[in-house]
Amino acid sequence: MNDKQTLLIVTAHPDDETFGCGGTLAKYVMAGVKVFCACATRGDVGTFEPENMKGFATVGDMRWAEFECAARTLGLAGIFHLGYRDSGMPGTEDNKHPQAFINAPVEEAAGRVVKVIRDLKPQVIITSDPVGGYRHPDHIAIHKATVKAFEVAGDPRQYSEDGPAFQPQKLYYNVFPHGMMKLTVTLMPLFGQDPRHLGKNKDIDLKSIADIKFPIHAIIKLSKQVRTIGDRATECYASQLDNRPRRAGFMDLLERLQRHDLDTFMRAFPPVNGHLHEKDLFQGVA
Ligand SMILES: [Zn+2]
Repeated sequence: MNDKQTLLIVTAHPDDETFGCGGTLAKYVMAGVKVFCACATRGDVGTFEPENMKGFATVGDMRWAEFECAARTLGLAGIFHLGYRDSGMPGTEDNKHPQAFINAPVEEAAGRVVKVIRDLKPQVIITSDPVGGYRHPDHIAIHKATVKAFEVAGDPRQYSEDGPAFQPQKLYYNVFPHGMMKLTVTLMPLFGQDPRHLGKNKDIDLKSIADIKFPIHAIIKLSKQVRTIGDRATECYASQLDNRPRRAGFMDLLERLQRHDLDTFMRAFPPVNGHLHEKDLFQGVA
């Protein structure tokens, strides 16, 4: 690998990059790859404790500062805000906000991702899976926008005002390992939790999510060194880590059961026929 290799991860909220695959990002940074993150929102409606807000005017400012801390820790070459507002969980008032990411037309959001792709010229892109991990509407929205952007970034006739065409070579979705998800659903009742009614609004159906099986095409092994970097980046997100009931529930359980020595990805492009076991997201990149 060399400094000509560039990796872009496109996410919905500050923390998605670190909680999703921070170890992988740190690993590529250490290998000399330029790693960037484009984030749709500033996490404007995330929950927090009063002490997290010291020195910050808004939740978005606070969470962006956490994001900057994580990016520094992981060694990212840059982070970008795509200009949208956190839509919150389904059924909340924040869904209706005019700047809420879920209300943006996919063509518009894709255009903003196209601009970042054409500016940075990444060979490899990572984003959320088609159900947004646990069906967070913003995660699904960033998935759709990134897939569209990947399809059109190399076409000079599309979004011609957003810079010269550039076609990335590979597109991955960061996916939960299916076995771990099934195990979580099985174990949750032992923790007094109903896997069909999770989250603050009891509207996350983990059982239905566990029934979806995305193929895993790439497994990135994480050394102790990069796991340590990932853990330190995680600590930057103090507002998302304290013992609030939501975190102590489903996310904390997932966190405990997760294999920490590997990250798993589905390859969306080039399309995969049958089985594939890549160990490097840049495998085959020209
Ligand atoms: Zn998120």
